Amino acid sequence: MAKIMAVNAGSSSLKFQLLDMPAEKVITTGVIERIGMKDSIFSIKVNGEKINETSDIEHHGEAVTILLKKLIDFNIIQSFEEIEGVGHRIVHGGDVITDSCILDDKAVELLESIIDLGPLHLPANITGVKAFKEVLPNVLHIGVFDTAFHVSMPEEAFLYAVPYEWYERYSVRKYGFHGTSHKYVSHRTAEILGKKPEEVNIIVAHLGNGASLCAVKAGKSVDTTMGFTPLEGVPMGTRSGNIDPAIIEYMGIKKQKSVKEITNTLNKFSGYLGVSGISSDSRDVNDAAAKGNHRADLAIQIQAKRIADYIASYYVYMGGADAIVFTAGIGENAPSTRENIINRLAVLGVKIDRERNNCRGIERLISTDDSTIKVFVVPTNEEVMIARDTLRLTHQ
Ligand code: ADP
Repeated sequence: MAKIMAVNAGSSSLKFQLLDMPAEKVITTGVIERIGMKDSIFSIKVNGEKINETSDIEHHGEAVTILLKKLIDFNIIQSFEEIEGVGHRIVHGGDVITDSCILDDKAVELLESIIDLGPLHLPANITGVKAFKEVLPNVLHIGVFDTAFHVSMPEEAFLYAVPYEWYERYSVRKYGFHGTSHKYVSHRTAEILGKKPEEVNIIVAHLGNGASLCAVKAGKSVDTTMGFTPLEGVPMGTRSGNIDPAIIEYMGIKKQKSVKEITNTLNKFSGYLGVSGISSDSRDVNDAAAKGNHRADLAIQIQAKRIADYIASYYVYMGGADAIVFTAGIGENAPSTRENIINRLAVLGVKIDRERNNCRGIERLISTDDSTIKVFVVPTNEEVMIARDTLRLTHQ
């Protein structure tokens, strides 16, 4: 048995999960929030019970030191040597890193060279890697990339119809994100169907606060809705998804704002939040819609329409689909959203079973027996994918 740590570092948070591999058993899980602020919160699960502690944690280095000390204090590990590898979720590998890899100094330098491609997430990911490497210098650190699963997209799917030089000189192309989740969910769905990933075509709808869909043909990503950045595709909690790009200049003039400020509005104040004016959280928006709030209902319908549009287009693009799969916070927990989306696809002969669909957070077939395409809920598990790759690369 090997103990592997899976880490997801954000700008002010650090999520972690310690797994026993290859059994894929979760030993503990937790998160450190508000890093760099007053009253940082450290939470960890010990024997199934959640423990919260508050203190001032100034930076990621301090967060990692505290986390490892707590693992010993809570008797979860006896010494740091028990941790055989640390797998880091990295949002972007650009064109330079296209598969999980050992994060040696050269790989970290490569990541630093592409920070422009992921300015909102990459700096925090790199800070997390450096902090862990400093505290655990004798352990292998592995990067697992959100973009990696999408390297199989063909040129016609990943290129934009802009001057070709933008791609050649500035790496402007669709990269796609949530790749680790799309891979896990699509391959798990193949398993449920009793097939190999190569034998089936699957459409994955990863609907969380961030949302993207992926067309997985014969086990490989052939298209996905997020693009050069996570802003493209379907509307999300606070992101607009696709808009006419000419709106950016127009609203810049109207609001006397820079391109950066308008882009920030598209990233942080649009989607559910922007349309409903209520919240970015689907639960609040659904509650308000149920009470008759028109804008809350609109936020939901705009997103459902766009999601159904993509599913239909991926169905045609792949020449059919064996399954449509819902995952992530909304996909796993919101029966009404799933029903709304599937009902819009009735012309394809796909049908939801309301009773089966009345479930949250579990793996389940939710279509009727006569549905032309099977519909599933499959909870995502990015940590297990990170741990699998980390185990593989630390033992090669
Ligand atoms: P991310 O990882 O992108 O931050 P998540 O996958 O955690 O997001 O999904 C967050 C979304 O899932 C929120 O909009 C939240 O409302 C929704 N969600 C979580 N639990 C439930 C639930 N029980 N019912 C409905 N929606 C839920």
